[in-house]
Amino acid sequence: MTTKTATNAEAAYKIWLGHTIQCAACRTTPCVTALRLGRAWREARR
Ligand SMILES: [Zn+2]
Repeated sequence: MTTKTATNAEAAYKIWLGHTIQCAACRTTPCVTALRLGRAWREARR
């Protein structure tokens, strides 16, 4: 279970990171999508 949770957290982090790199809006301020992805990442870490 721990491994699965860590994998999900890492996957969510990579998705969030990939968005922040591609999203022009996130270069200045995190957009709604980035906030949602960041929340999903934090949820997966628990
Ligand atoms: Zn964004």
